[in-house]
Amino acid sequence: MSPDRANSAGADTQSAPPWPQRLSELFLSTDPRRRIRITQWGITVIVYASSALVVKFALRPGSADEIGYAGWCAFLVLFLTGVYVALRSGWSERFADPALTTAQMILGSIGVEWGYVLCGPARGATLYPLLLIFAFGAFSLSWRRIMWLTLLTLVSLVATVAVLETSRTGDPGGLLKTSELRLDQINVLMIIIVLPALSVTAARLSMLRYKLRSQRSALSEAMEEVQRLATHDDLTELVNRRHIQQRLAQELSRFQRHGSPFSVVIIDLDFFKRINDTHGHAFGDHVLQAFAAEAVATLRACDLIARWGGEEFLVLLPDTRAAQAATIIRRLLKRMPTMPHAGGPPLTFSAGVTECRRDEAVEDAVARADAAMYEAKASGRNAVRLKETTT
Ligand code: GH3
Ligand code: MG
Ligand code: MG
Repeated sequence: MSPDRANSAGADTQSAPPWPQRLSELFLSTDPRRRIRITQWGITVIVYASSALVVKFALRPGSADEIGYAGWCAFLVLFLTGVYVALRSGWSERFADPALTTAQMILGSIGVEWGYVLCGPARGATLYPLLLIFAFGAFSLSWRRIMWLTLLTLVSLVATVAVLETSRTGDPGGLLKTSELRLDQINVLMIIIVLPALSVTAARLSMLRYKLRSQRSALSEAMEEVQRLATHDDLTELVNRRHIQQRLAQELSRFQRHGSPFSVVIIDLDFFKRINDTHGHAFGDHVLQAFAAEAVATLRACDLIARWGGEEFLVLLPDTRAAQAATIIRRLLKRMPTMPHAGGPPLTFSAGVTECRRDEAVEDAVARADAAMYEAKASGRNAVRLKETTT
């Protein structure tokens, strides 16, 4: 075989998953949540099928009970197939409980009770799947719903057995002596003892699940807040110095790899101390916030402005030559007289613009922008100075 053919054969093997995986994807789907639901359904199928085999084993061949048994099996097959189709097709995902747990529990309980009526002397065995049905409730139902379903199941089971007894004799009062009634009483009593205990355990698990979920969401909210505090300035809500330093370093390595130049601007508000002294510190804070909002609104979406410190800001303009950056910053300066900041004196700023060189450290570019900003101050403020890179 030529190397080319060997390679293409290798590529084919890589692209097509092995047949067990394809079969499992066909049956369980590729959606991870759907797969979990269908796997859970599979466990139910195994338990129902095993229970059906045990009942079959207990029935006398050729007895009238076998007809009832066949009907019960048909009900189970229909119910389980219907649930599979609903889960596999994704139809169940339109509901708040996409695993259809409540529906599966109610239908399962009906199946159990019906099996009890149909399966004659082997009827006791049909009750066991109830325990599995209620254990599954713990995975997705609230404790309240588990309790309601338990009550509903117990009441309907007692009613089913009462109807069964009545239909057998037509005289429920005279039944206490019959061994059949004694058997039913024992079966129902055992379920009345075991099922609530199991349901309480399932409900406790459910509460634990809810608690874990709310703790997890509180934790992720706290993490988001920590992340925000670590990267943002509280007053202006702009990113902070630490964050923009990281972005500058990233931008430089992008420039070095892909050759897209970027510009750096230092902006310092003019005579800001005077604003504080005349109108108070709180008003000064308000002006800083108003300036931040105005800058974000004026700059392009790709630009990033950070609070560099006090009344100084640093702007990173990716993929931008210095001349274009200066034009953008002049546009911002022109908007200053109309900036809404509660009737204070007109605000101006001085800015230094430069482009970062491929072979220098970003700190050098920032220092050059800072020097250009001081030149703008020295020239009388309210100005933008561009400092070309020296190569
Ligand atoms: P120049 O035009 O030379 O920059 O003059 P300036 O008054 O802006 O510069 P100076 O450095 O003398 O004063 C900066 C002022 O900014 C002093 C400081 O109190 C004020 N400032 C720094 N951070 C804050 C803040 O968070 N809130 C308020 N309200 N003022 C601040
Ligand atoms: Mg300053
Ligand atoms: Mg200043």
